[in-house]
Order: sequence, then structure tokens, then C-alpha cells
Amino acid sequence: MGSVDTVGALPRDLVRLAVSPRDKADAIAQAAQMLVAAGCVEAGYAQSMIRREGVANTFLGHGVAIPHGMAEDRALVRANGIAVLQVPDGVEWNPGQSARLVVAIAAQSDTHIAILRRLTRLLQDEDRLGGLFVTSDPGDVITALTTDPEVNAPAVPVSDLAKRFEWVLDYPNGLHARPAARWVDTAKGYAARCQIRHGDEVADVKNLVALLRLGLTQGERISVSAEGPDADQALSRLKATMLELSVQERADAALAARRAKQPVIGWHPPGAPMALAGIAAAPGLAIGRLHVLAAADRSVPDHPVPLSEGGNILHEALSATRLQLKALADDTARRLGPSEAGIFKAQGELLNDTDLITLTCQLMVEGHGVAWSWDQAIERMAGKLAALGNALLVARAADLRDVGRRVLGQLDPGLGGASLHDLPDEPCILIAGDLAPSETAGLDPSRVVGLATAQGGPTAHTAILARTMGLPAMVAAGPGLLAFESGTLAILDGYGGRLYPDPSPEALSSARAFIAEQDLRRAREEERRSLPASTRDGHRVEIAANVNFADQAAFALSQGAEGVGLMRTEFLFLERGDTPDEEAQLAAYTAMQDALNGRPLIVRALDIGGDKQVAHLDLPREDNPFLGVRGARLLLRRPDLLDPQLRALYRAAKSGKPLSIMFPMITSVPEIIALRGICERIRAEVEGPEVALGIMVEVPAAALAADVLARHADFFSIGTNDLTQYTLAIDRQNPELAAEADSLHPAVLRLIRMTVDGAAAHGRWVGICGGIAGDPFGAALLTGLGVQELSMTPRDIPAVKERLRDCDATALRALAERALTCETAADVRALEADL
Ligand code: PEP
Ligand code: MG
Repeated sequence: MGSVDTVGALPRDLVRLAVSPRDKADAIAQAAQMLVAAGCVEAGYAQSMIRREGVANTFLGHGVAIPHGMAEDRALVRANGIAVLQVPDGVEWNPGQSARLVVAIAAQSDTHIAILRRLTRLLQDEDRLGGLFVTSDPGDVITALTTDPEVNAPAVPVSDLAKRFEWVLDYPNGLHARPAARWVDTAKGYAARCQIRHGDEVADVKNLVALLRLGLTQGERISVSAEGPDADQALSRLKATMLELSVQERADAALAARRAKQPVIGWHPPGAPMALAGIAAAPGLAIGRLHVLAAADRSVPDHPVPLSEGGNILHEALSATRLQLKALADDTARRLGPSEAGIFKAQGELLNDTDLITLTCQLMVEGHGVAWSWDQAIERMAGKLAALGNALLVARAADLRDVGRRVLGQLDPGLGGASLHDLPDEPCILIAGDLAPSETAGLDPSRVVGLATAQGGPTAHTAILARTMGLPAMVAAGPGLLAFESGTLAILDGYGGRLYPDPSPEALSSARAFIAEQDLRRAREEERRSLPASTRDGHRVEIAANVNFADQAAFALSQGAEGVGLMRTEFLFLERGDTPDEEAQLAAYTAMQDALNGRPLIVRALDIGGDKQVAHLDLPREDNPFLGVRGARLLLRRPDLLDPQLRALYRAAKSGKPLSIMFPMITSVPEIIALRGICERIRAEVEGPEVALGIMVEVPAAALAADVLARHADFFSIGTNDLTQYTLAIDRQNPELAAEADSLHPAVLRLIRMTVDGAAAHGRWVGICGGIAGDPFGAALLTGLGVQELSMTPRDIPAVKERLRDCDATALRALAERALTCETAADVRALEADL
């Protein structure tokens, strides 16, 4: 009998080759009859299979159909089994869909998932599948449907691939998600199959979940092997990545250990008040009323849709989530730093996990709805990871659920978990079972002053993010935490990991005094940040911040920002699943003006295209998006995007608070003239005031023609990220070339000098808002080149200001002249020693 349980025992009489059924019903009848003859099912099963066709589509795609009975007819199944019909000429399964391999399944429970899993893998191997449609050897079909390396794993000794090396993992925290994601990235750059073996367990290096499932800890020996045309290159690059990360991982662990040894500034409450203990996750003391997040309603309704449609829906939701995570990683990198952004990059990698997608498809094939299947697949995989009992894997299960929730939100906005949208107005201490990393990253610091969770751990991404955000936090406090009533006044001690509910007046005043003392200390530190960036000889440079949302402005100001030099408005579009209308945009710009309280604000019009794709805009695919309809080119073609944005901006400007508009990716005078014309029309329509209209200089054409463009633009801001990319012809996203994409390359510096000179000829000012502005040496050099404003990630501000205050403008000008004559970027950087 062709039992799925006894893999490898699919008998030849359950495979019929070269059949020509009259139609689909005939094919199903023949397959059912084979299953009856094999004793797998009762005669009524054929009817049940036909009924299933009426409510679900069993066509898997690529010429494969998998008819099976209704779930409620499982009693008709006596033993698990499959029967296969090969139909070389195909039989129409649905209009336009022809089945050439009909795999009829009889399963008492979900055991046929093993077959489905093999089939879904086969669907990705078109050559092998094509062979099965015409083979005259039933053995080929039997092997394809019964060989499953995972099922056979215990019996067959695992072996390495053709080329290999051994390595002892020396990452102090084991193989956690961020380094693992880098391994995956590296392996994916090669066609070769790459594998890691640890003892008897193997994992595909291109599969993040499989790697994490190995649960590798420091000191474990692994064998890294590869097979394929570029196996040697893949292995040597993998080795380089692993070793490079060793240095980083060890340095991180040493830093963490040093921090742990530092005397902890702590708060000692008077008396011995009652406290709930957890694990300290982020230092700081917070006083506030508790806001207990109700456990999210986990029930995801099961609304079946035809399988082919379901596949498309899932595909689109996954693509949209990938873009959303990329935007979140980008935004987090700019706001909190690259290491924190790595959390969301690793999460994005989880979406490529083939096991996860396959499991979802299998559940859909069984007739379940997309959202339900996805949710089940996430829960099963997260459950498996969590059950391995390794703290790191438990944390990764939380990431998996976080990603899962995002995809659910794409499938049905009602399922994305909206709990964080109704926080009280008064700042609160947030209490939750657990909080997803992306929820934590999105917390508004003016409304949440502390965070305590029942689950989680101090190394989980939520805790890392809370520390970076300066949000006092405690984790793993147990379910008792959730029993508190919302509204209860409490003190949260993030140094000691304690929550003090209903504190006494003495405890409250002691905590307030402690917080005041800490604030004073911080204020003293910030004082220097808030001093202007004036060189020793009195030359002042404006220092601004790159921030996208109003709630990030306060932090930027606390770091010493004197305004916002770049508000990337595409993030208003990227973070949501739809296009914000004029009113929503007006609210965002007004909120930013309010947060800046009279300080300068430069809002960049939408820069969509290139690396910033917005799924819901359905823009045509381009072969070279960086050279395509990007930035201003798109705006000029899409008045439906440009007009509402300009209307909102001119309406915001009516408040009288500072606001300038800047256009991205300008390459020519006609573009500026056209955009100015549109601005003028819209200004008249909304009766708005005149607003300075500037341009980004980020392509060499704009820098080379700066003297001409300056006649038409009120100011320039140089986007060195793109200017470097386009000048050096290096894709800014290509990790292989990242080290060479140095904005201090003399060619880029010469273009900056041309821009400054061109602007000066018409009395225009020039700023820089690319990443090099936040590099203290870069900032000094740019100042020497004559740039008047530097706009950067808020965290970079204190160091840049400090560096500039330490210099003489005359020396910087001489430095710039020398840099312009250097041969290489390395020579330019070497000049730092003389500064
Ligand atoms: C740049 O290109 O330097 C820039 C600031 O814009 P973005 O990074 O958003 O492309
Ligand atoms: Mg740019």
C-alpha cells in the first residue's frame, strides 16, 4: 500500500503511467478506484473528492493536481495513501489549467503534508517535474514522491558537500539572528549549494530558520561545505564573513561585559516597599500610570479562497511586508543605528524561509484561508523554535511572530494588532505580555515612559531597542504582571528590574528626586551638544538633523540639532500600506513644525524609486530603478502624488513657521522650472506664502551644472549617498563594494567643490544631508570645502559638533585644498592625522 507514513513504500500499482482520462471527474474516479483497491479508502471517497473540488481548487500549479476528500469524510480513510496518474497530454482541471500529474491523497490526519512538501519542492524544480510528466519508469515518480531527506535523515548518515572547511564557532553569544542573517546573505550571492553540518544535523546556509535551528553555541565545531560551479568562491567568502563577524561579535560581547561591570547607578527606595521583580532590560527610572495592553485576540478567521488566488494574495502580502521591513530597517538605521536596523533585516530574511511558505501553501491546499494558514504556519514554526529550550531561539520565535503579525496586517488590516493605537494621553508605563520589536521601535516616547513585559528576555530585540531608545524597561516579570489594573500609579526601576505599584508618598518623592538628579546630569552633558558648532576662529556651521517623523524631533533637538535639514517624506508612504492624503500629510508637516518650535525645517518632496519602492503605488518594474523614473522624474509624471503633497506643504507654510521645500534627483534646469511652475500654481490655489525651493544635488550632472542650476534654485543640499553612487558607479546597496563607495573619494569632493562654487556665484547656500555629514572628519573637510549646513542622523551630532569646535576654519580650508589633489579616498582619509 502507498502509505505516506512508510515512505519509500509507494508500490508500483499505485502509479499509473500514460493514462488519458476523459476529463477531471474521470481522472478522480480512476485515482479513487486505485486507492480503494489498495485498501486505503472506502468506496464513497471518490464522491468526497468530487465534493472537495466544488469548494476548493486542488490544482497546485505547474501541471500538478492533488485531489483529496473532504475533512469531514476522514472516516472513509482506512490508511494513509496516495495514488498517482501520469497524464502526458494533460487533463483540464480548471479552465486554462491542465494537470499532467494527478496525485490523489488519502490522509486520516495531516500526514499528507510530507507529500505536499515534496510536491511544492518539485514545483520549484521544473526540469525534474517535466521529466515526471513523460517518464516511462514508475520508479522515477516513486522516488520523487517518497524521498524526503528530512524524513530519511536518521537512517542515512549526513555527509558534507564536495568542498569543505571546518571551523569552531567563536561568537560568545552563539549563532544568533544577526550574524546568521549575514551568513545567509553571503551564501545567497552564489549559485552553489552551501551547507553547515554540526554533528548529525545539517542546515542550508541560505535558510535562516534552518541555521538558527542548529542552536550553535560558542566552541562548537562545524563543517561548512559547498557544491556547485562557484563552490570555492562561496566557501572563501563565507569564511571571510564568519571571521569578520568574529571580531565584531567578540568586541560587542566585551563591551557588554565592561558595561555590566560598571557600577550600576541605582535607585534605592525608602523603606522596603512591595515590588514585582523581573529582569532589568533597560536602565532608567519611570513614574507613571500603568497601561495594561489587553492580550491581542489571536483568533484569525478561516476564509478559504481558491488556491491559485490565495497564492497571489500571499505573494503580494509577503512582498509588501518585505518592503515595509526594509523601510523600517532603513528608518531604524537612520534613527537608532545600523546594529538596531539589523534586527529588521534579519526579520525580512525570515520571510524567505521556504519551510514557512511551503507549510502555508500546504494548509491552503487543504482548503484553508490565506491568513489562517499563514498564522498556523507561523505558530507551528515559532512553537518548534521555542520548544528547543534555547534562550536565543525563544527570542527568535518572538521575531517570527512579529513578522507573522506584519504579514497578517497586510492580508487584513484588522489582524495586524492595533492595540498600541489607543494609548492614554498622559505618559504611561506600558505593561504587556510581550511586545514585538517593531512595536517597540514605533513607541512614542512622549506617551510611553517605561515598559514592562511578562515574557521576553534581556537579549531579545525588544530589550535592545528599549535600551537604544532610552526607555526604562523590565522583562520576564511573569504573568502576575498582567493582573495589574490600568491606571494604577507605579514606579518602574529599569536598573534593578522592579515594578513598585501604588508607591508611598516617600517613595514617590525619592524617585522624583532621583529622576531630577539624572535629568540634571544629562542636561549638563547636553549643554555642550547644544552649543553651536563654531570653529576656534569663529566660523559657524549650521547643524541639522535628518528626521522623518515629528516624534523623533525632540530627540534630535536634545542631541544638539538646530533644525531639520532633511525630512524624507517617502517614509510617510513606506510605513503605511496606502498613500496618505492631503490632510494626513498636512498633519505630519504641521506636527514637525510644532515639534521644531520655530527652527528651520526642510521637507524633501517624495523620493520614490531606486531603493525606495512603494508596493501600493504599483509602479512599473524597471531594469535599472536607480537610473529610472525616480525622485523628481516620478513627481513630474504623477500629479496625483505631487499636487496633494505640495498643497499640504503650502498649507502648512501658512502657519508662518519655517518651512522650505526641496526636490530630489534633479538633473536639469527644465525640471526645476517645471516644478517651480507647479509650486506657483498650487501656492496661488491655497493662498500660501512664498517658500524657499531648493534641490538635492545627488547626480554628477547637477554638480557639474551647479552654476546654471543655482539661477533657478534657492538652495542646494548635496545628497552624498547618491552622489557617491552615481559618481563612482557603485550601487549603494551592494555590500561587496561598500568599502569602495567612500564619499571622501577625491572625485566626489571635486563635485562638491563645483557645487559650492556654482552656488556662490548666485548667492545660494549649500548644505550636505548624506551620510558623510555625520562623520566627524568628513564634516570638518566639508566645512573646509565651503559647505554651510550639515544635516545628519541625530546620534552623530554631538561628535561632529565637538570635532568642529576643535578646529580652525583656516586650517580646514587648507585641508580641503590638499584633499582635492589627493589620488585616492585612502589618501584623503590619511590627512586626518595632520588635522
Ligand atoms: C542622499 O542621497 O545622500 C540622501 C540624503 O538621500 P537618500 O539617502 O534618501 O537617497
Ligand atoms: Mg538620495
